[in-house]
Amino acid sequence: MTTLFISDLHLDANRPAIGVQFLAFLGGEARQAEMLYILGDLFEAWLGDDDPNPYYADMKAALRKLADTGVPVFFMHGNRDFMIGEDFASETGVTILGDPAVVDLYGEKVLLSHGDALCTDDVEYQKIRAMTRDPAWQAMMRAKTIEERIKIAIAARQASLARGETLDDEITDVNQDAVKETIRKHGVDILLHGHTHRPAIHELKFDDRTATRIVLGDWYEQGSVVRWDADGPRLETMPR
Ligand code: MN
Repeated sequence: MTTLFISDLHLDANRPAIGVQFLAFLGGEARQAEMLYILGDLFEAWLGDDDPNPYYADMKAALRKLADTGVPVFFMHGNRDFMIGEDFASETGVTILGDPAVVDLYGEKVLLSHGDALCTDDVEYQKIRAMTRDPAWQAMMRAKTIEERIKIAIAARQASLARGETLDDEITDVNQDAVKETIRKHGVDILLHGHTHRPAIHELKFDDRTATRIVLGDWYEQGSVVRWDADGPRLETMPR
């Protein structure tokens, strides 16, 4: 049996090819999987579980269908869809994981993360991250109407563009000290994350040990997946 990992699809009605590939993946390979982990930024933007966006409703229905076949599906928040909440979880049958999370994969202890928390060089972003992950801030946002939230999201995007944080900045890489500290703290040898859109497998040597950092890619041009079974992980692309 194989456990699958994906991240950074950035599903958006304006980029329909990604959604088509995702639906085919859910209805195909994922149905044979032991488990599916989605490590954040599944959606381009998430205003709240009450968002009536019909495109996202289709994606939720497909997730529900997979969960109903008995495949456990786990979701971790990204920096685009951190407002996904318990209503989404009960609608889709998906289990929301905290970031980071340690899981056991075929006898190996693995640390999973979206990856944005490791990009500590972007001090301004880390401040925004701390604010937007605060339950009080999220409750304040959820109390607003969808129309108000759309306005706020547009303003936030413009502010972030103004400070040069477009996609270019989002693919700013992780800080190596933050990676080492995270690996030490959780006592693992393998870290798996997305966010940076730089798919790779890195070997790290520090503290007289060797650790591995696996980075999932985005789905803009093709799918990216980690297939993990008893023989270990394989980072692979899925052509469209
Ligand atoms: Mn991200």
